[in-house]
Amino acid sequence: MPPVVASPLPAAQPRPRAVAVPRPSRAEAEEAVRTLIRWAGDDPGREGLLGTPDRVVRAFREYFTGYEEDPVALLHRTFEETDGYDEIVMLKDIRFESHCEHHLAPIIGKVHIAYLPKNRVVGISKLARLVDVYAKRLQIQEKMTAQIANTIDEVLQPRGVGVVIEAAHQCMTTRGTHKPGTILVTSRMLGVFRTDPTSRREVLAMVGMPGVAKLDNV
Ligand SMILES: [Zn+2]
Repeated sequence: MPPVVASPLPAAQPRPRAVAVPRPSRAEAEEAVRTLIRWAGDDPGREGLLGTPDRVVRAFREYFTGYEEDPVALLHRTFEETDGYDEIVMLKDIRFESHCEHHLAPIIGKVHIAYLPKNRVVGISKLARLVDVYAKRLQIQEKMTAQIANTIDEVLQPRGVGVVIEAAHQCMTTRGTHKPGTILVTSRMLGVFRTDPTSRREVLAMVGMPGVAKLDNV
């Protein structure tokens, strides 16, 4: 890692939370879970289900922590002394767990992030956390792909950004069309990765595309 240099970027603008609707009380949220249990056909009053609303509400907090974090502020601390490093930086196989906004069903997959720095790089753990900030929200994969790429583009202002996501959607595998093994691949390319076919090919080759990488342990 290059030495840490305080970034001269302007101070991050405080952003409103991702969603500005009032939260229900915890008791209301637990009651909603009881309603869904009754909707499923079971009795929320039976012994095995008594603690379930509490557990589900706590699980929701964990699944959706991304609403609490500002992705721009997260990336704001950058490193500047790169000794002229001007090749692609790529972080591959960042596993994520998200939930589709249509069914609240899990989306599990991997994100690959590439960028071509222009003076400024960011700690790689920040890239992984950026993925989580967007994954831990109700999502569609296409939007998440664009959000990750756009945020890196906005904060680091690199020459190019490429984000590729491969994921399995449990709303496809456990319900509806029941097609296990299907993987949705999305990508967003900005800057030279969008305009220069050679750079774009280099990114896709580093990811291992075309030809979709295997998704293990999903
Ligand atoms: Zn879905």
